[in-house]
Amino acid sequence: MTEKMEWQAELVEPRHPALHTAATKDPFESTDIDWVEREQAMFTIMHDNLGIGLASPQCGDQHRMFVMSHSTKGDIGIYNPKILATSESTCVIEEGCLTFPLLYLNITRPESVVVKYQSADGTETTETLTETDARVFQHEFDHLKGLLFIDSTYSSDLKLQRAFAKREKTFKKMMEMKVNG
Ligand SMILES: [Zn+2]
Repeated sequence: MTEKMEWQAELVEPRHPALHTAATKDPFESTDIDWVEREQAMFTIMHDNLGIGLASPQCGDQHRMFVMSHSTKGDIGIYNPKILATSESTCVIEEGCLTFPLLYLNITRPESVVVKYQSADGTETTETLTETDARVFQHEFDHLKGLLFIDSTYSSDLKLQRAFAKREKTFKKMMEMKVNG
């Protein structure tokens, strides 16, 4: 079965090719897409799943765009993002990913980043991101490279085994709660 690299208004399976391929399409060259509408759909999926970021490939799409909850700007769409500079200092933060519900991994990344991106109307912004904003931007930016937080760049086999085992336990507990009413 070949899955099409097409937008769907839901999260695609972790094996979907869009999640493992670099997103190459410039959103502004696809004039048939209403990006404001698309952003709204993505904000909804993000919030329904209690997320703070969602990248196009997570919905099977190959455009270079993602949405995130920015600490001061609120929900924003990020188009054609670039990371211009990263801080030398790094930090470890426990990350989750909407593609892998209830899986949490400690990931080391630069503490702050200087980024450049466009908004849905094409306006360019350059800004320095810190704390959660920096973290979310880098995680979503990875999705556009076809890189996941479970990939070997970030996580050893042992670390993954432990995280998946912990996730399995959580799932079991949730099932028990359902059975017990
Ligand atoms: Zn993710």
